[in-house]
Amino acid sequence: MGQSFEDTLTQFRAHVKKMNSYGEALNVMYWDLRTGAPRKGMEARSEVIGELSADLFKMSVSDQMGGYLDVLLEPNTFEQLDAINRKIVTECKKEYDRSKQIPPEKYQAYVVLTSQAESIWEEVKPKSDFATFSPYLEKIVAINREFIDLWGYTGHPYNTLLDMYEPGMTVDKLDQLFGELRTKLVPLVSAIQQSPNKPHRSFLQQQFSIQLQKEFSLFTLKQMGYDFEAGRLDESAHPFATGLNPGDVRITTRYLQNDVTSALFGTIHEGGHALYEQNISPDLIGTPLCTGTSMGIHESQSRFWENMIGRSLPFWKQYYPKLQEYYPEHFSKVPVELFYRGINDVKPSLIRIEADELTYNLHIMIRYELEKELFSGTIQVHELPEAWNAKYKQYLGIEPTNDGEGVLQDVHWSGGAFGYFPSYALGNMYAAQMRHTLLEQMPDFEEKIERGDLLPIKDWLTERVYKHGKLLTPTEIIVQVTGEELNPAYLIQYFEGKYKDIYKL
Ligand code: ZN
Repeated sequence: MGQSFEDTLTQFRAHVKKMNSYGEALNVMYWDLRTGAPRKGMEARSEVIGELSADLFKMSVSDQMGGYLDVLLEPNTFEQLDAINRKIVTECKKEYDRSKQIPPEKYQAYVVLTSQAESIWEEVKPKSDFATFSPYLEKIVAINREFIDLWGYTGHPYNTLLDMYEPGMTVDKLDQLFGELRTKLVPLVSAIQQSPNKPHRSFLQQQFSIQLQKEFSLFTLKQMGYDFEAGRLDESAHPFATGLNPGDVRITTRYLQNDVTSALFGTIHEGGHALYEQNISPDLIGTPLCTGTSMGIHESQSRFWENMIGRSLPFWKQYYPKLQEYYPEHFSKVPVELFYRGINDVKPSLIRIEADELTYNLHIMIRYELEKELFSGTIQVHELPEAWNAKYKQYLGIEPTNDGEGVLQDVHWSGGAFGYFPSYALGNMYAAQMRHTLLEQMPDFEEKIERGDLLPIKDWLTERVYKHGKLLTPTEIIVQVTGEELNPAYLIQYFEGKYKDIYKL
């Protein structure tokens, strides 16, 4: 008699837990690198990260892993597993199959290439020098095409890349979702531009004490229900959230002396990501399910808190007096309605990360269309700058004057993260759809915000989204929460309601 499947399951879970421990150790090191690790130690640290990552990769494709999966995926055995174990097995199998297809030396070369490309990108972006970057990007795209062929795909080759960030997402679905959204957004943006009722925002661009911005950031996070015994707030050039485990979810923000909105909304955004990770069920600790279910759902939570709560009038009816107390000379003469309109100014712009919540989606569609064409082969890397500028002209009515504020502005492509961009716009759609259901189930939603009673909202989301971690798929989550699959109509409805009022259309 061999060992029972229960024994295999125990060994498999121990193996998975060990991989998870490596992952947590790596995440602490990345966090440390990005929040103030001494410069002279960076090279040695990068080597440590490289070695541990290689070990982690080996564990995910080892013969041992293959053996466990064979036993546990045997239909009679699989049937006897509980929901959590089934999902862990399925996730590990997906990862195993994907990684097994790629020859290790090919993968290693790709890692080296993308890390070179990221440094080159940093150098050429301020010089608007696409020509120097172009050969690297060509290689990255070519290797991704090879990977796609090795992995196999159904429908469009780009589907395989989309699935890495948003499981189940396809070009067909995105074309439909983005198509509907674009049809309504473009005329709305142009009506807004023609409106004579433009918000003022000069009062947001004064000199603001950094110390006070820090205090206000901490205050806002506490109001949202962010648990400071399970996290901390630090500073970094690019704000981010990192979930080590639900008891340790750290966020960063960025303070600009001349613009109070950067830290204000950056903090709420990362706080939204953090609420998700802090409230994952303890059953999932030490498994690959102890994280957000997809980039799109993760973004939905940061954007829900940042835009649908943080940029709403009820929120500022409650918290504006506090902000005025912090900055009396800046805001005492600015009424709350004026402040609210100022933080919701819509203006077509060239830089994605500075865009308002409305035009932001058009920035994403442009990137999506270009990526799709790169992988169907209808566009070549050297044609990107021209295609980029043409799309900006078409969707936003403005054109970059150089590639630094055009095709070179984002880091994603240099790291090979194709298929990632759509998550941001999907997040907006998921968030608006959840908000619609929340309004039905919690009719005093806005009154609650206006009273500063935000915890019931956090609890509502914990029950329906946060606690499940990766146990449910993005589609299962949205259907379970709202009763239907992702539907862009709710985002359109939310935008039309909000902006027709602000711009008096
Ligand atoms: Zn985010």
